[in-house]
Amino acid sequence: MAGAAFLIRDGQMPGNQITVLERLALPGGALDGIKYPDKGFVIRGGREMEDHFECLWDLYRSIPSLEIENASVLDEFYWLNLDDPNKSLQRATINCGQDAHTDGKFTLTKKAQTEIVKIFLATREEMEDKRINEVFGADFLASNFWLYWRTMFAFEEWHSALEMKLYLHRFIHHIAGLPDFSTLKFTKYNQYESLVLPLYG
Ligand SMILES: Cc1cc2nc3c(=O)[nH]c(=O)nc-3n(C[C@H](O)[C@H](O)[C@H](O)COP(=O)(O)OP(=O)(O)OC[C@H]3O[C@@H](n4cnc5c(N)ncnc54)[C@H](O)[C@@H]3O)c2cc1C
Repeated sequence: MAGAAFLIRDGQMPGNQITVLERLALPGGALDGIKYPDKGFVIRGGREMEDHFECLWDLYRSIPSLEIENASVLDEFYWLNLDDPNKSLQRATINCGQDAHTDGKFTLTKKAQTEIVKIFLATREEMEDKRINEVFGADFLASNFWLYWRTMFAFEEWHSALEMKLYLHRFIHHIAGLPDFSTLKFTKYNQYESLVLPLYG
C-alpha cells in the first residue's frame, strides 16, 4: 500500500492502474489487522516509532487524518507526541516489579566506552563472522547501556556483531533517550487503526 501511495503521489500514476494483491481479509500485513470485537482485549504487536522514519513520515504528510479535518496523519501524530510525549518512570524492574534503579545512568566504564567507539568506527569486514560478546567485554555486557539496548532492539550476546554495529549507526541519535524511552513515539491507537486504515481509506 505504501508503494501504491508513493506511485500515485510521486510517480503521478493514476490509482486505477494499480492493483494490490493481498491474501488476508484485512489490509496492513505485519501491522496486525484484527476485527474480533467480542474477543475482549487483544494486545497487538507494536513497532517502536521515532522521528527519523523518513520515508514513513514523508508518506503520511500526504495521507489525511481520519479524525482531524484538514490535517494529515503526520500532523495528528506530531501533535499527539508534542502534547503527550512518551516517557518511562521506571525503565527496568527486578524481583517481580521492584524498581531496578537504572536511574537514567549508562554505567559505561572507560573501557566499555572505548569499545563502542571502536566498533562504531570499524569496517563492516572487521565485524563479519563475530558475535557481540566477541567484540564487547564484560564491562560493557554488565552496563545499563547494554540493558537498555538489548531490551529495546531484542539483541542477545550471541547475536551478530555486524548487526550491532549497523544498529549503532542507525540509532545513534537515540542514545540520550534510551534510559527512559523518551526517544520512542507512539500513535494514538494501535498501528493498524492509526496507520493502516487512513492509508487504506
Ligand atoms: C511484533 C512486531 C514488532 C515489530 N517491530 C518493529 C520495529 O520496532 N521497527 C521496525 O522497523 N520494524 C518492526 N517490525 C517489522 C515490520 O513491522 C515489518 O518489517 C514490516 O511491517 C513489513 O512490511 P512489508 O510491507 O514488507 O511486509 P508485510 O507487512 O508482511 O506485508 C506482506 C503482505 O503480503 C501478503 N501476502 C503474503 N503472501 C501473499 C500471497 N501469496 N498472495 C497475496 N498476498 C500475500 C501478506 O498477507 C501481507 O499482508 C515488527 C514486526 C512485528 C510483527
